[in-house]
Amino acid sequence: MPWRGCLTMRFDLLTLFPIACEAMLSESIIGRARERGILDIHCHQIRDYTENKQKQVDDYPYGGGMGMVMNAQPIADCYRAVCDELGHRPHLIYLSPQGAVLTQKRAQELAQLPEICLLCGHYEGVDERVLDALVDEQISIGDYVLTGGELPAMVLVDCVSRMVPGVLSDEICFTEESHFSSLLEYPQYTRPAVWEGREVPEVLLSGHHANIAAWRREQSLLRTLRHRPDMLEHADLTDKERAFLEERREKSVD
Ligand code: SAM
Repeated sequence: MPWRGCLTMRFDLLTLFPIACEAMLSESIIGRARERGILDIHCHQIRDYTENKQKQVDDYPYGGGMGMVMNAQPIADCYRAVCDELGHRPHLIYLSPQGAVLTQKRAQELAQLPEICLLCGHYEGVDERVLDALVDEQISIGDYVLTGGELPAMVLVDCVSRMVPGVLSDEICFTEESHFSSLLEYPQYTRPAVWEGREVPEVLLSGHHANIAAWRREQSLLRTLRHRPDMLEHADLTDKERAFLEERREKSVD
């Protein structure tokens, strides 16, 4: 895989629903990053590459069974058109419930690439031969099945793009967030200081940066312990923090 040497990251989506994808990827932070040239996103219609008059992109599964399977040929030709435009093969990811589940760590690695091509399946899926021939990696967005790969592709583009330099105002926007360092983020508050009788924790109003940082770190540890204790195994913790969590764990068992 070639590593990013340029500032713009390119995404090519191979889909039967390019208009829906385009609409979603033109809004908010992603849309603005595209306008600023930091992201270069292209949504390709697989149907344009069919070789039959009806522009049919799917057929019955060999061996029988429910539903339709997407044909290999238009997908392969759509991908090859992208390869021709780029002058090389971009890393091709098939969004699939059978892939490895997407993690922040994998998204961070993918954000290092100059470009990614995403294949969105539909119906019962895609002819296995095109996967064998062309796909570099299969990624799932969770252990459940959706009707198509478009929503998973949106999730992947969004998650990866946030870590492309310049998309967010500052790197700290994502390095302090949940999952980045195997911890969940601390609770966040904004104005007013009292809402329906509920007060913002006093320390956040103190202006004392060191105390605020210490409070946030503690909250982050406690949240992770409560909601996702499995993540703590991979977290980078000091001995003091480990002892603190152990004490809290014992207290909750008592
Ligand atoms: N028959 C396939 C199976 O059992 O593995 C499921 C096909 S699914 C109905 C149709 C398409 O949705 C897939 O080709 C894939 O692109 C996409 N998809 C569904 N669930 C997904 C998930 N959890 N993550 C990523 N893509 C998914």
